Amino acid sequence: MSAAHLPPLNTLPRAARDLLARLGVPATRLYGAMAARTPLTGEILADVSAAGPSQMEDALARADAAFKVWRAVPAPRRGELVRLFGEELRAAKADLARLVTIEAGKILSEGAGEVQEMIDICDFATGLSRQLHGLTIATERPDHRMMETWHPLGPVGVISAFNFPVAVWAWNAALALVCGNPVVWKPSEKTPLTALAVEAVFARAAARFGDAPDGLLSVVPGGRELGEALVDDPRLPLVSATGSTAMGRAVAPRLAQRFARGILELGGNNAAIVCPSADLDLTVRAVAFAAMGTAGQRCTSLRRLIVHADIQAELVARLKRAFGSVRVGDPLAADTLVGPLIDGAAFDTMQVALEAARDAGGAITGGARLDGTALPDAFYVRPALVEMPEQTDTVAAETFAPVLYVLSYRDLDAAIALNNGVSQGLSSSIFTCDLREAERFLSGSDCGIANVNIGPSGAEIGGAFGGEKETGGGREAGSDAWKAYMRRATNTINFGHALPLAQGVVFDID
Ligand code: NAD
Repeated sequence: MSAAHLPPLNTLPRAARDLLARLGVPATRLYGAMAARTPLTGEILADVSAAGPSQMEDALARADAAFKVWRAVPAPRRGELVRLFGEELRAAKADLARLVTIEAGKILSEGAGEVQEMIDICDFATGLSRQLHGLTIATERPDHRMMETWHPLGPVGVISAFNFPVAVWAWNAALALVCGNPVVWKPSEKTPLTALAVEAVFARAAARFGDAPDGLLSVVPGGRELGEALVDDPRLPLVSATGSTAMGRAVAPRLAQRFARGILELGGNNAAIVCPSADLDLTVRAVAFAAMGTAGQRCTSLRRLIVHADIQAELVARLKRAFGSVRVGDPLAADTLVGPLIDGAAFDTMQVALEAARDAGGAITGGARLDGTALPDAFYVRPALVEMPEQTDTVAAETFAPVLYVLSYRDLDAAIALNNGVSQGLSSSIFTCDLREAERFLSGSDCGIANVNIGPSGAEIGGAFGGEKETGGGREAGSDAWKAYMRRATNTINFGHALPLAQGVVFDID
């Protein structure tokens, strides 16, 4: 792979500074000791002022105060703020998308897609602000009415991962804000700049709104200790945390300890089953995007391809061509489809997994690093396709890199068992033109997302997003995910003169 496909040194820090200035990030946020790097070249883009304990306390106290005001603002009026935020995001889309690409390494169209996802969830939440409705329920007592009402919950803590530096936060924040809750956001230590840019965009929406209380959104850049502080703080009745299963394993018991709610969006290890009747042209394109898109760094990336033995040779040959020819390189260049890994640790993890797969009898195509001479601190890799004799421990673990394991099957039940035979349960797909196979898979997959004839990645915000088992069980974005951000009250109203007790209980006093 020629160096012509790699970005030049000494241009990105300046480009990032210009974008941050245009997006309105105050200079005071950018004088600190926390280095924000770009995976494109490994250079430092800016030194961010990390939050310490006192800034965290300030953010939590302001969120707590803001909640007392915001919860009393009518929900459709709260929706107006989110509508304005969506407008500001539309205006900032091109700059924000470029910053996402420079900071997280995804290609420009995916950077733009990430910002579009924020805009989409703002539209969704604006409409939702007029639909936070409960049920009325039949009561067994005469002259009584029973109903459910939904109330703001309190300030919400959001911890985000590097690979979706802004969209997943927005899924949480747009819903939390219309539900009446301020947000304290600890972004990934690998992607603080996009979070600061979004904070600046939100500030413009809040200024246009007029009377938004101070403290509705605070960004606290920093590492794991700040995340732990959010998780432990009793002023946050809900913490939504996105990241590795290891992170969730640390966070879940701490939240349980104080009876707080958690929305955990953790690791995935997503499979697709390809049946003999599958449309192979469509399948190849879907598999290519799901396995190689975002350089395999999506929670929903396709990692396991379970192919019927009769079509395996043909499909694998076509995929090898796609994996071998896909343009890897500068994600800012229009024809690039695969950008860099986030850092050297991700590259090392990928190589360890490939080594283990080879030891277990795997046949590997691709996986090598592009010549690192020009950019020793950037990690561009050719996506790897690995034909495996069976689903080994390595295959069953999430490796956050572009590695696609191929497994063979003959019986659909065995294929579904392989799909379910890992500890994660996020997303899954089947490629088939047989209705019976599709339906057996949809009820057989144990994942939070199950698709037919599309890959496991690339969800729309209208559906509830999340996964089962070690993916954490949380649900975000569309459908009725908003209910996690509100407190439900069951109300029974007696509009008669008698006091009949439920279940016929008699308790008469003189
Ligand atoms: P990570 O677990 O290293 O970090 C995620 C966030 O958690 C960061 O902000 C980090 O500072 C914070 N954190 C880490 N340990 C913590 C602790 N003990 N207490 C509180 N906060 C803590 O993950 P990453 O490398 O940024 O992201 C990749 C992982 O995220 C992958 O496993 C991927 O599958 C997962 N992910 C899941 C989803 C989903 O929706 N299921 C979405 C995106 C990413």
